[in-house]
Amino acid sequence: MSFLPPSSIGILGGGQLGRMFALEARRSGYRVVIFTDEPAGCPAGQVADVEINAGYDDAEALQQFLEEVDVVTAEFENIPDSCLQAVEAVKPLRPSRHAIYTTQHREREKLFLRDRGIACAEFRIIENVAGLEAAVAALGRPCVIKTAAFGYDGKGQAKVGEDTDLSEAWKAFEGHHAVVEQWVPFIAEMSVVGARAVDGSTAVHGCVENIHEHHILDVSISPARVPPAIETQAFALWQAVADGLGYIGTMAVEMFVTANGRVLVNEIAPRPHNSGHYTIDACRTSQFGQQLRAVCGLPLGDASQHTPAVMVNLLGDVWRAELTHPDWSPVLSHPDAKLHLYGKQVAKWRRKMGHFTVLGETVEQALSEARRLQATLPPREG
Ligand code: AMP
Repeated sequence: MSFLPPSSIGILGGGQLGRMFALEARRSGYRVVIFTDEPAGCPAGQVADVEINAGYDDAEALQQFLEEVDVVTAEFENIPDSCLQAVEAVKPLRPSRHAIYTTQHREREKLFLRDRGIACAEFRIIENVAGLEAAVAALGRPCVIKTAAFGYDGKGQAKVGEDTDLSEAWKAFEGHHAVVEQWVPFIAEMSVVGARAVDGSTAVHGCVENIHEHHILDVSISPARVPPAIETQAFALWQAVADGLGYIGTMAVEMFVTANGRVLVNEIAPRPHNSGHYTIDACRTSQFGQQLRAVCGLPLGDASQHTPAVMVNLLGDVWRAELTHPDWSPVLSHPDAKLHLYGKQVAKWRRKMGHFTVLGETVEQALSEARRLQATLPPREG
């Protein structure tokens, strides 16, 4: 089924990804309704036609939301399954409940990858310290313990080193399922962001090289500085995940590149992704434009990149104080820099407040300009 304006699109979630998607949808004449458990005035709510603020288990509020919308999508994956089921029973949910349910939980995601023969780090699923001991014996040290549910940006993870005491390490995970992963000595982290339409056609934007700081994305470099053989593997992995999930919408797959030229899937994000923000300024159709087309059952656009680009994340750390902006003039006065702010008032430490993208004739040029501008925004004293 396809939807044209002035159809109403419902978005589950109220963060910056929902905001940038809502802006794209409204620019194209759609009506946007946000359902979020955040307080009123959240980043997506600020730019929506309607904002409903209620718990994801609030059946009455959900009913009201479903009456308002023609089609529904999600801007983050940690939505209770009961809510996804209630939505999908009444309205098209794109991506589907199955795709979100599979990828919102590391254990299900890993089992999906294993079932499909999609390359990822070797892993074991465990639920107690005996399981941890067996997993570490099998996978070797170092390795990483990750909570199965609701982890993001490195939260809910612990590295097991040569001297780590396993009973001590397990304490943080007690009572939960966890995934233990073999340590991947990667030479680069990368992601592929792309979209799959209702008819199964796909379009990827390209490979992006990602550099993290404190487990949070810091800089995305696009196109990634990797050989064609790596790109080919990465696109094949993205395609296998998208087809395997019967995916509809924009999806990101985060990957590791190893020294011996292998590419492994790290994580799947069933939504537009931070590492795809450069597409707004550097691609013919952005990740949000593709999400809109896919969710509405329309043909995908040309995803190709027209200009090399580097995106720099702006965390609350670079605000002078929680309510005081830094001096944006170097970024604002740069002819090739595009500043995007998310409408969040309080610049908490490590909170994603915005990003800027720097375009360049070459990726190296964009990177050096991006780093130069980033240096004008030092973090405040912790
Ligand atoms: P994740 O939340 O799984 O994306 O992990 C956050 C970050 O931790 C990744 O971007 C990597 O830098 C690092 N990391 C996670 N898993 C592994 C692994 N198996 N081997 C090496 N580094 C990892």
